[in-house]
Amino acid sequence: MANGTTHRIAAAVVIGAVWIHAEADQPEKSAKPLLGAGLAALLTNLPDILEPALHPNHRQFFHSLTFAAMLGKATHEIYEWETDNPADEAIRFLLLVGAGAYFVHLLLDAGTAKSLPILGRF
Ligand SMILES: [Zn+2]
Repeated sequence: MANGTTHRIAAAVVIGAVWIHAEADQPEKSAKPLLGAGLAALLTNLPDILEPALHPNHRQFFHSLTFAAMLGKATHEIYEWETDNPADEAIRFLLLVGAGAYFVHLLLDAGTAKSLPILGRF
């Protein structure tokens, strides 16, 4: 069963690797892979902040497949957002990293015996 540390390490590795891949064909490299990895480690436990693991059935709406689908749709919209200034680009980066970190958390939770609910309670 993945604990908070496992979630943070997995999110840092996955999100860092995604940004390394995103910059692979660009001549100039940025700090985004490192920054993304650090931010992902900080943000990945957001589902457990919203629904603390106080009992075995703590996974409800914010851990649900329904919420994951809604987040996926929102993430696609953010991904398609064509920014034209550094502030918007920073917001886009933060939102994509946060969403990716959230998905890593849900993926790790889905691999446990309790898995994820389809809808969950609010
Ligand atoms: Zn969780």
